[in-house]
Amino acid sequence: MRIALFGDIHANLEALEAVLADAANQDVTAYVCMGDLVGYNADPAACLEKVRAMDCPTVKGNHDEDAAGIHSLESMNPVAAAALEWTRQQLTAEQRQWLSHLRMVRQVSDFTVVHSTLDQPSHWNYVTNRFDAMSNFSYQFTQICFHGHTHVPRIYVKSDRVLEVPAESVVIEDGAKYFINVGSVGQPRDGDWRACYAIYDLDHKLVVVRRVEYDIGKTQEKILAAGLPPMLAERIAEGR
Ligand code: ZN
Repeated sequence: MRIALFGDIHANLEALEAVLADAANQDVTAYVCMGDLVGYNADPAACLEKVRAMDCPTVKGNHDEDAAGIHSLESMNPVAAAALEWTRQQLTAEQRQWLSHLRMVRQVSDFTVVHSTLDQPSHWNYVTNRFDAMSNFSYQFTQICFHGHTHVPRIYVKSDRVLEVPAESVVIEDGAKYFINVGSVGQPRDGDWRACYAIYDLDHKLVVVRRVEYDIGKTQEKILAAGLPPMLAERIAEGR
């Protein structure tokens, strides 16, 4: 069995469709979503409905929470706040309610999924090095945990100590634990503009991170046409 793990879609429909097509070509039969369906880009409702129709396990991201909520966006950076304000207007009350009901943590098969970290899922901590990863491992009771949030794919392995290995692929070995960031579908920030997600092959105990090209020009046009901050169109081309 092969499962696709994808998240941080951020309302980028072209990237989402390209990832789902690639996963189908890779013989994926099950899907799990890491959250942040909306925010930043121009297709929040379409991306939400596409993921909802898939009826796959989905955890809540901070942008899902902010788009669903009514609290002030004042503490947020101005570009993210402008995009969120716009996003709220694009969603129906019912769609916002669906986002608000997403769970923070889920266990699926033999692994756990969370948007940020297991130690304090609602604090939206960023894991950018192996020391950050250590706090998560203390709360990780399955062998593998998949997450997102930083938009940078990373693989941490805990055996006698915690190490980071290149975020390309990893074999799941007995006696070790794995904390794997599956990168971002709709707004990668590792310098590579291509949509990012991961496939977990349960039979071969193998996780592979994949990159997929998509029609980025179309996504950029939609961002500008929607009146969203132009830097959101620029950054997706740079992968930042
Ligand atoms: Zn995100």
